[in-house]
Amino acid sequence: MQTMIHLALADDWEVRGNGTGDPRVLQFEPMRKLVKIFNKHGIRGSFNAEVMQQLIYRSQQERFPELKVIADEWEQVVIESFRQGHDIQLHLHPQWLDASYQGHGNWKLGGDWSILNYPRQQIYAMLASGKQYLETLLRQIDTAYACVSFRAGSWCAAPSDSLMSILSELGIVFDMSIVAGIRHDTPQVKLDYTKCEEPFVPYYPDMADARRVSRSVEPLVCIPTNSFSGARFASLRRDFGKACSALQRRVRSLRNGNGGAPPTSPRGRSGDEWTNKGESGAVGLLKRVIKRYVLGQVHIADVSRLNYAMMCQMMTHIRRQAARSRLPNVPVILENHTKDIHDFSDIERFVADVVLSPDVKTVTLTEIAHGLRNGTFKARAA
Ligand SMILES: [Zn+2]
Repeated sequence: MQTMIHLALADDWEVRGNGTGDPRVLQFEPMRKLVKIFNKHGIRGSFNAEVMQQLIYRSQQERFPELKVIADEWEQVVIESFRQGHDIQLHLHPQWLDASYQGHGNWKLGGDWSILNYPRQQIYAMLASGKQYLETLLRQIDTAYACVSFRAGSWCAAPSDSLMSILSELGIVFDMSIVAGIRHDTPQVKLDYTKCEEPFVPYYPDMADARRVSRSVEPLVCIPTNSFSGARFASLRRDFGKACSALQRRVRSLRNGNGGAPPTSPRGRSGDEWTNKGESGAVGLLKRVIKRYVLGQVHIADVSRLNYAMMCQMMTHIRRQAARSRLPNVPVILENHTKDIHDFSDIERFVADVVLSPDVKTVTLTEIAHGLRNGTFKARAA
Protein backbone atom coordinates (compact mmCIF):
# COMPACT_ATOMS: atom_id res chain seq x y z
CA MET A 1 0.00 0.00 0.00
CA GLN A 2 1.38 3.38 -0.96
CA THR A 3 0.72 6.25 1.44
CA MET A 4 -1.08 9.20 -0.13
CA ILE A 5 0.64 12.42 0.90
CA HIS A 6 -1.83 15.29 1.40
CA LEU A 7 0.42 18.29 1.03
CA ALA A 8 -0.55 21.72 2.34
CA LEU A 9 1.42 24.67 1.00
CA ALA A 10 1.02 26.97 3.98
CA ASP A 11 2.42 30.47 4.08
CA ASP A 12 2.97 32.84 7.01
CA TRP A 13 1.77 36.14 5.63
CA GLU A 14 3.26 39.10 7.48
CA VAL A 15 5.86 41.88 7.53
CA ARG A 16 9.16 41.45 9.41
CA GLY A 17 9.16 40.36 13.05
CA ASN A 18 10.28 43.79 14.27
CA GLY A 19 7.40 45.47 12.40
CA THR A 20 9.52 46.93 9.58
CA GLY A 21 8.79 46.49 5.90
CA ASP A 22 6.18 47.80 3.51
CA PRO A 23 3.11 45.51 3.51
CA ARG A 24 2.62 46.28 -0.20
CA VAL A 25 6.10 44.92 -1.00
CA LEU A 26 6.37 42.11 1.56
CA GLN A 27 2.75 40.92 1.54
CA PHE A 28 0.32 42.17 -1.10
CA GLU A 29 2.46 41.95 -4.23
CA PRO A 30 4.08 38.53 -3.52
CA MET A 31 0.77 37.00 -2.38
CA ARG A 32 -0.87 38.00 -5.67
CA LYS A 33 2.10 36.52 -7.56
CA LEU A 34 1.97 33.27 -5.60
CA VAL A 35 -1.79 32.94 -6.05
CA LYS A 36 -1.26 33.38 -9.80
CA ILE A 37 1.27 30.50 -9.80
CA PHE A 38 -1.07 28.29 -7.75
CA ASN A 39 -4.00 29.08 -10.07
CA LYS A 40 -1.92 28.37 -13.19
CA HIS A 41 -1.14 24.88 -11.86
CA GLY A 42 -4.63 24.27 -10.50
CA ILE A 43 -3.75 24.00 -6.82
CA ARG A 44 -4.95 25.87 -3.75
CA GLY A 45 -2.60 27.36 -1.17
CA SER A 46 -3.17 28.31 2.46
CA PHE A 47 -2.19 31.64 3.95
CA ASN A 48 -1.72 32.04 7.68
CA ALA A 49 -2.61 35.70 7.93
CA GLU A 50 -0.87 37.48 10.80
CA VAL A 51 -3.81 39.28 12.40
CA MET A 52 -2.28 41.39 15.20
CA GLN A 53 -0.72 43.77 12.69
CA GLN A 54 -4.07 44.23 10.96
CA LEU A 55 -5.98 44.75 14.23
CA ILE A 56 -3.46 47.43 15.29
CA TYR A 57 -3.70 49.17 11.91
CA ARG A 58 -7.49 49.21 12.25
CA SER A 59 -7.34 50.50 15.84
CA GLN A 60 -5.19 53.48 14.83
CA GLN A 61 -6.62 54.30 11.41
CA GLU A 62 -8.75 57.21 12.65
CA ARG A 63 -5.66 59.09 13.82
CA PHE A 64 -3.51 58.07 10.85
CA PRO A 65 -5.59 57.80 7.67
CA GLU A 66 -2.64 56.28 5.72
CA LEU A 67 -3.04 53.17 7.89
CA LYS A 68 -6.63 52.75 6.71
CA VAL A 69 -5.47 52.62 3.08
CA ILE A 70 -3.08 49.74 3.90
CA ALA A 71 -5.59 47.91 6.12
CA ASP A 72 -8.23 48.14 3.38
CA GLU A 73 -5.84 46.70 0.80
CA TRP A 74 -4.89 43.93 3.28
CA GLU A 75 -8.53 42.87 3.40
CA GLN A 76 -8.90 43.22 -0.34
CA VAL A 77 -5.94 40.89 -1.05
CA VAL A 78 -7.16 38.35 1.51
CA ILE A 79 -10.69 38.37 0.08
CA GLU A 80 -9.40 38.18 -3.51
CA SER A 81 -7.33 35.09 -2.70
CA PHE A 82 -10.11 33.47 -0.68
CA ARG A 83 -12.63 33.99 -3.52
CA GLN A 84 -10.24 32.10 -5.81
CA GLY A 85 -10.35 29.07 -3.51
CA HIS A 86 -7.25 29.63 -1.36
CA ASP A 87 -7.48 29.15 2.37
CA ILE A 88 -6.91 31.79 5.05
CA GLN A 89 -6.06 30.71 8.59
CA LEU A 90 -4.81 32.16 11.84
CA HIS A 91 -1.27 33.33 12.61
CA LEU A 92 -0.40 35.73 15.40
CA HIS A 93 2.62 37.77 16.46
CA PRO A 94 1.98 39.14 19.96
CA GLN A 95 4.83 41.67 19.69
CA TRP A 96 2.28 43.92 17.93
CA LEU A 97 0.29 44.27 21.14
CA ASP A 98 0.37 47.98 22.11
CA ALA A 99 2.50 48.87 19.05
CA SER A 100 2.83 52.60 18.52
CA TYR A 101 2.91 54.23 15.11
CA GLN A 102 5.84 56.58 14.49
CA GLY A 103 4.66 57.88 11.11
CA HIS A 104 6.04 57.26 7.58
CA GLY A 105 5.27 53.53 7.82
CA ASN A 106 7.42 53.02 10.94
CA TRP A 107 6.26 51.17 14.03
CA LYS A 108 7.65 50.64 17.48
CA LEU A 109 6.80 47.20 18.78
CA GLY A 110 7.13 46.71 22.49
CA GLY A 111 5.47 43.35 23.13
CA ASP A 112 7.14 40.03 23.88
CA TRP A 113 7.66 37.89 20.77
CA SER A 114 6.45 34.70 22.45
CA ILE A 115 2.77 34.21 23.18
CA LEU A 116 3.89 31.81 25.94
CA ASN A 117 5.09 34.75 28.04
CA TYR A 118 1.64 36.34 28.35
CA PRO A 119 -0.96 35.61 31.03
CA ARG A 120 -3.75 33.21 30.08
CA GLN A 121 -6.38 35.93 29.86
CA GLN A 122 -4.32 37.94 27.41
CA ILE A 123 -3.51 34.91 25.25
CA TYR A 124 -7.22 34.12 25.12
CA ALA A 125 -8.13 37.70 24.21
CA MET A 126 -5.56 37.91 21.38
CA LEU A 127 -6.52 34.57 19.85
CA ALA A 128 -10.27 35.15 20.20
CA SER A 129 -10.12 38.58 18.58
CA GLY A 130 -7.90 37.32 15.72
CA LYS A 131 -10.20 34.40 15.02
CA GLN A 132 -13.31 36.53 15.20
CA TYR A 133 -11.79 39.12 12.89
CA LEU A 134 -11.00 36.56 10.17
CA GLU A 135 -14.38 34.85 10.50
CA THR A 136 -16.32 38.12 10.30
CA LEU A 137 -14.34 39.14 7.22
CA LEU A 138 -14.56 35.86 5.32
CA ARG A 139 -18.11 34.85 6.19
CA GLN A 140 -19.19 37.73 3.97
CA ILE A 141 -17.91 35.53 1.12
CA ASP A 142 -18.66 32.05 2.49
CA THR A 143 -20.99 31.64 5.48
CA ALA A 144 -19.42 28.23 6.24
CA TYR A 145 -15.90 29.67 6.68
CA ALA A 146 -14.23 28.83 10.00
CA CYS A 147 -10.85 29.39 11.49
CA VAL A 148 -9.72 25.82 12.15
CA SER A 149 -5.94 25.93 12.44
CA PHE A 150 -3.25 27.96 14.14
CA ARG A 151 0.42 28.63 13.73
CA ALA A 152 2.13 30.58 16.51
CA GLY A 153 4.35 33.55 15.69
CA SER A 154 8.06 32.58 15.86
CA TRP A 155 6.91 28.95 16.42
CA CYS A 156 6.39 29.59 20.16
CA ALA A 157 3.79 27.02 21.23
CA ALA A 158 5.38 24.80 23.89
CA PRO A 159 5.64 24.29 26.75
CA SER A 160 2.54 26.14 27.95
CA ASP A 161 -0.14 25.41 30.54
CA SER A 162 -2.72 27.37 28.63
CA LEU A 163 -2.13 27.70 24.87
CA MET A 164 -3.39 24.29 23.68
CA SER A 165 -6.48 24.39 25.90
CA ILE A 166 -7.34 27.93 24.75
CA LEU A 167 -7.02 26.86 21.11
CA SER A 168 -9.39 23.95 21.67
CA GLU A 169 -11.86 26.14 23.60
CA LEU A 170 -11.92 28.45 20.60
CA GLY A 171 -12.75 25.57 18.27
CA ILE A 172 -9.34 25.28 16.60
CA VAL A 173 -9.02 21.73 15.23
CA PHE A 174 -5.25 21.56 14.90
CA ASP A 175 -2.06 23.43 15.67
CA MET A 176 0.96 23.38 13.33
CA SER A 177 3.53 25.33 15.35
CA ILE A 178 5.80 22.44 16.32
CA VAL A 179 8.83 21.89 14.06
CA ALA A 180 10.87 18.92 15.23
CA GLY A 181 14.58 19.59 15.62
CA ILE A 182 14.72 23.37 15.73
CA ARG A 183 16.09 25.44 18.60
CA HIS A 184 16.17 29.21 19.02
CA ASP A 185 18.05 31.18 21.62
CA THR A 186 17.88 34.79 20.48
CA PRO A 187 17.16 37.97 22.45
CA GLN A 188 13.51 37.69 21.31
CA VAL A 189 12.84 33.98 21.06
CA LYS A 190 13.81 31.03 23.21
CA LEU A 191 12.49 27.65 22.24
CA ASP A 192 13.80 24.12 22.15
CA TYR A 193 12.14 21.59 19.85
CA THR A 194 15.16 19.29 19.62
CA LYS A 195 13.43 16.52 21.55
CA CYS A 196 9.96 16.38 20.00
CA GLU A 197 8.32 12.99 20.35
CA GLU A 198 6.57 13.03 16.96
CA PRO A 199 8.22 14.75 14.00
CA PHE A 200 5.80 13.79 11.21
CA VAL A 201 2.28 12.40 11.69
CA PRO A 202 -0.67 14.09 13.47
CA TYR A 203 -0.74 13.44 17.20
CA TYR A 204 -2.62 14.31 20.37
CA PRO A 205 -0.37 16.66 22.31
CA ASP A 206 0.35 16.67 26.00
CA MET A 207 -1.85 19.70 26.74
CA ALA A 208 0.86 21.34 28.87
CA ASP A 209 3.77 20.55 26.56
CA ALA A 210 2.93 20.04 22.88
CA ARG A 211 6.41 18.66 22.21
CA ARG A 212 5.19 15.48 23.86
CA VAL A 213 2.58 12.99 22.67
CA SER A 214 -0.33 12.52 25.07
CA ARG A 215 -1.30 9.06 26.33
CA SER A 216 -4.94 9.84 25.64
CA VAL A 217 -7.20 11.38 23.04
CA GLU A 218 -7.19 15.18 23.45
CA PRO A 219 -9.59 17.87 22.20
CA LEU A 220 -6.97 19.18 19.75
CA VAL A 221 -4.44 17.69 17.33
CA CYS A 222 -0.90 18.82 16.52
CA ILE A 223 0.51 18.39 13.04
CA PRO A 224 4.21 19.26 12.91
CA THR A 225 5.32 21.68 10.24
CA ASN A 226 7.67 19.50 8.24
CA SER A 227 11.43 19.66 8.75
CA PHE A 228 14.35 17.69 7.37
CA SER A 229 18.08 17.52 7.91
CA GLY A 230 21.11 17.14 5.70
CA ALA A 231 21.00 18.74 2.22
CA ARG A 232 24.59 19.88 2.86
CA PHE A 233 25.68 20.31 -0.74
CA ALA A 234 22.39 21.88 -1.88
CA SER A 235 22.47 24.41 0.97
CA LEU A 236 26.11 25.20 0.16
CA ARG A 237 25.06 25.97 -3.42
CA ARG A 238 22.15 28.09 -2.19
CA ASP A 239 24.32 30.12 0.18
CA PHE A 240 27.08 30.51 -2.41
CA GLY A 241 24.51 31.89 -4.87
CA LYS A 242 23.22 34.32 -2.24
CA ALA A 243 26.74 35.48 -1.36
CA CYS A 244 27.50 36.07 -5.05
CA SER A 245 24.42 38.22 -5.57
CA ALA A 246 25.19 40.20 -2.40
CA LEU A 247 28.70 40.79 -3.75
CA GLN A 248 27.31 41.88 -7.13
CA ARG A 249 24.99 44.35 -5.36
CA ARG A 250 27.96 45.76 -3.43
CA VAL A 251 30.08 46.14 -6.57
CA ARG A 252 27.18 47.85 -8.34
CA SER A 253 26.82 50.20 -5.39
CA LEU A 254 30.58 51.01 -5.50
CA ARG A 255 30.31 51.80 -9.22
CA ASN A 256 27.34 54.07 -8.53
CA GLY A 257 29.49 55.97 -6.05
CA ASN A 258 27.68 54.82 -2.90
CA GLY A 259 30.99 53.91 -1.20
CA GLY A 260 30.21 50.19 -1.36
CA ALA A 261 27.45 50.38 1.20
CA PRO A 262 25.20 47.38 0.62
CA PRO A 263 21.85 48.64 -0.70
CA THR A 264 19.14 47.64 1.76
CA SER A 265 16.92 44.93 0.43
CA PRO A 266 13.20 45.76 0.43
CA ARG A 267 12.53 42.07 1.17
CA GLY A 268 13.44 39.40 3.64
CA ARG A 269 14.64 39.36 7.19
CA SER A 270 15.98 42.30 9.12
CA GLY A 271 19.55 42.08 10.37
CA ASP A 272 20.49 39.11 12.50
CA GLU A 273 17.41 38.90 14.70
CA TRP A 274 17.36 35.11 14.17
CA THR A 275 21.03 34.53 15.03
CA ASN A 276 21.35 32.26 18.05
CA LYS A 277 23.32 33.30 21.10
CA GLY A 278 27.00 32.44 20.58
CA GLU A 279 26.63 32.20 16.80
CA SER A 280 27.60 35.73 15.79
CA GLY A 281 31.13 37.00 15.09
CA ALA A 282 33.95 34.94 13.54
CA VAL A 283 33.71 31.99 15.96
CA GLY A 284 29.94 31.92 15.54
CA LEU A 285 30.32 31.94 11.76
CA LEU A 286 32.65 28.94 11.96
CA LYS A 287 30.15 27.13 14.19
CA ARG A 288 27.37 27.84 11.69
CA VAL A 289 29.51 26.62 8.77
CA ILE A 290 30.27 23.34 10.55
CA LYS A 291 26.64 22.86 11.57
CA ARG A 292 25.28 23.59 8.11
CA TYR A 293 27.80 22.03 5.73
CA VAL A 294 29.53 19.32 7.77
CA LEU A 295 27.03 18.02 10.31
CA GLY A 296 23.93 18.86 8.23
CA GLN A 297 21.53 21.13 10.09
CA VAL A 298 17.77 20.82 10.47
CA HIS A 299 15.90 22.82 7.83
CA ILE A 300 12.32 23.95 8.27
CA ALA A 301 10.40 22.92 5.13
CA ASP A 302 10.08 26.61 4.25
CA VAL A 303 10.04 26.87 0.46
CA SER A 304 10.96 30.58 0.51
CA ARG A 305 14.31 29.62 2.09
CA LEU A 306 15.06 26.55 -0.06
CA ASN A 307 16.34 26.22 -3.59
CA TYR A 308 14.89 23.64 -5.98
CA ALA A 309 17.50 20.99 -5.11
CA MET A 310 16.68 21.37 -1.41
CA MET A 311 12.95 21.10 -2.14
CA CYS A 312 13.63 17.80 -3.98
CA GLN A 313 15.54 16.49 -0.96
CA MET A 314 12.70 17.64 1.28
CA MET A 315 10.22 15.59 -0.82
CA THR A 316 12.49 12.52 -0.72
CA HIS A 317 12.52 12.81 3.05
CA ILE A 318 8.72 13.29 3.20
CA ARG A 319 8.17 10.18 1.06
CA ARG A 320 10.47 8.15 3.29
CA GLN A 321 8.63 9.28 6.43
CA ALA A 322 5.23 8.65 4.78
CA ALA A 323 6.24 5.07 3.88
CA ARG A 324 7.44 4.50 7.44
CA SER A 325 4.10 5.72 8.85
CA ARG A 326 2.22 2.82 7.11
CA LEU A 327 -0.86 5.05 7.03
CA PRO A 328 -3.05 5.15 3.92
CA ASN A 329 -3.29 8.96 4.13
CA VAL A 330 -1.04 11.45 5.83
CA PRO A 331 -1.24 15.26 5.92
CA VAL A 332 2.07 17.10 5.50
CA ILE A 333 2.38 20.82 6.14
CA LEU A 334 5.01 22.97 4.48
CA GLU A 335 6.00 26.52 5.33
CA ASN A 336 6.57 29.58 3.19
CA HIS A 337 7.14 33.25 3.91
CA THR A 338 5.95 35.47 1.08
CA LYS A 339 8.12 38.26 2.55
CA ASP A 340 11.27 36.15 2.01
CA ILE A 341 10.70 35.09 -1.61
CA HIS A 342 13.29 36.63 -3.92
CA ASP A 343 12.80 34.32 -6.85
CA PHE A 344 9.52 32.56 -7.62
CA SER A 345 10.95 30.26 -10.33
CA ASP A 346 12.11 27.46 -7.97
CA ILE A 347 8.75 27.47 -6.22
CA GLU A 348 6.94 27.27 -9.54
CA ARG A 349 9.14 24.38 -10.66
CA PHE A 350 8.42 22.60 -7.38
CA VAL A 351 4.65 23.19 -7.70
CA ALA A 352 4.73 21.79 -11.26
CA ASP A 353 6.45 18.61 -9.95
CA VAL A 354 3.94 18.21 -7.14
CA VAL A 355 1.00 18.42 -9.54
CA LEU A 356 2.46 15.55 -11.61
CA SER A 357 3.20 13.30 -8.60
CA PRO A 358 0.67 10.44 -8.32
CA ASP A 359 1.43 9.95 -4.61
CA VAL A 360 0.86 13.62 -3.69
CA LYS A 361 -2.41 15.49 -3.47
CA THR A 362 -2.44 19.16 -2.52
CA VAL A 363 -4.91 20.21 0.15
CA THR A 364 -5.83 23.31 2.11
CA LEU A 365 -5.63 23.55 5.89
CA THR A 366 -9.44 23.53 6.05
CA GLU A 367 -9.43 20.23 4.13
CA ILE A 368 -6.95 18.80 6.63
CA ALA A 369 -9.32 19.78 9.46
CA HIS A 370 -12.18 17.99 7.64
CA GLY A 371 -9.96 14.95 7.18
CA LEU A 372 -9.17 14.85 10.91
CA ARG A 373 -12.88 15.12 11.72
CA ASN A 374 -14.07 12.44 9.28
CA GLY A 375 -11.28 9.97 10.04
CA THR A 376 -9.33 10.25 6.74
CA PHE A 377 -6.38 11.36 8.87
CA LYS A 378 -5.59 9.56 12.11
CA ALA A 379 -3.92 11.25 15.05
CA ARG A 380 -1.82 9.10 17.29
CA ALA A 381 -1.56 8.94 21.07
CA ALA A 382 1.46 7.65 22.97
ZN1 LIG B 1 5.11 34.76 11.53
